[in-house]
Amino acid sequence: MIDCTGFGTTAADKPLQELAFKRRDVGKNDVKIKILFCGVCHSDLHFARNEWHFTVYPAVPGHEIVGQVVELGSAVQNFAIGDQVGAGCMVDSCRTCASCREGLEQYCEVGNTGTYGGTEKIIGGPTFGGYSDSIVVDRHFVLRIPKGMDLAATAPLLCAGITMYSPLRHWDTKAGKKVGIIGLGGLGHMGVKLAHAMGATTVLFTTSASKVADGKRLGADEVVLSKDREQMARHTASFDLIIDTVATTHDLAPYFNLLKRDATMVQVGAPEHPLPINVFPLLTRRRHFAGSAIGGIAETQEMLDFCAAKHIAADVEVIAIQKINQAYERMLKSDVKYRFSIDMASLPG
Ligand code: NAP
Ligand code: ZN
Ligand code: ZN
Repeated sequence: MIDCTGFGTTAADKPLQELAFKRRDVGKNDVKIKILFCGVCHSDLHFARNEWHFTVYPAVPGHEIVGQVVELGSAVQNFAIGDQVGAGCMVDSCRTCASCREGLEQYCEVGNTGTYGGTEKIIGGPTFGGYSDSIVVDRHFVLRIPKGMDLAATAPLLCAGITMYSPLRHWDTKAGKKVGIIGLGGLGHMGVKLAHAMGATTVLFTTSASKVADGKRLGADEVVLSKDREQMARHTASFDLIIDTVATTHDLAPYFNLLKRDATMVQVGAPEHPLPINVFPLLTRRRHFAGSAIGGIAETQEMLDFCAAKHIAADVEVIAIQKINQAYERMLKSDVKYRFSIDMASLPG
């Protein structure tokens, strides 16, 4: 087994600290990645604090991983030592169910293996995430990072990027469509950039007056302060698609009212507690309320290539791993511009 160093936690109410743990040896289909940067997703915080009620401790978060190939299994031919690669939210799936065969491994019918919080298939126990020095991933779940991309700013594409790209594509975002993004955090700022790059008229909904200028700089045609009823009312029944990235309980009805007839609001934010839903705005215009989870491996590669071609990456604040607990507190205050990216060179040893 491989000895790893990382940062994680031993209980929901404990801060993250340095942890030693083991990963499986490199199997014949595996790629060992030396992790250079790992983005900080709000899911990491939900998971570390057991807000989704399935965390097994010790827990090591992190699923926005970029790095370099340092070892290859004997059957791996499509990667070479030194390649620039990434890993996202999944490290395995059954590969045989209908969803896996369609390239929708995130919806694997027997459950995909999460990069963290999953079950390690070879050595048992929980899977450990990317706040660490290295990771071993089956080649099928390893992504190529196109040359020339800034690695610190690319890491967040592996979760925040694909989580927005997939629903934008699924609901046919293009010129002539009007798309709303709720929340200018890690996911939201990628949503604004991607919807704009796909040609849609892009509107950002934010609770933070201080983010209006940034919203426009990032690609929003208009920024709406969601607490301002008059600003909201100007957009009644006008959207083809709205994607909600908010990580906490909030009222959805004001946004439902902004959808056209038959249009869809997609929930990607995953609050701990159930959201109250007023169904009337759904009934009166046959509107849809849907969910979406990350994206499949092929689509994640497509997203990375799209971002490389369009020169899109996350706006990041690079931090040393020792700052992770402060980073979580800032994330809870919506004080991130717009994703933390951990420089793994800061790991001791
Ligand atoms: P984040 O960086 O913390 O961004 C969330 C944003 O929501 C904040 O920046 C803030 O934007 C807005 N917000 C915060 N509190 C709010 C409130 N009370 N009412 C309205 N808006 C509020 O989080 P993230 O990393 O983007 O993740 C967002 C959520 O998506 C998390 O729940 C995460 O677990 C989930 N997620 C889901 C998937 C998936 O596959 N579905 C993948 C990744 C993450 P403003 O300041 O602009 O209002
Ligand atoms: Zn994530
Ligand atoms: Zn499957």
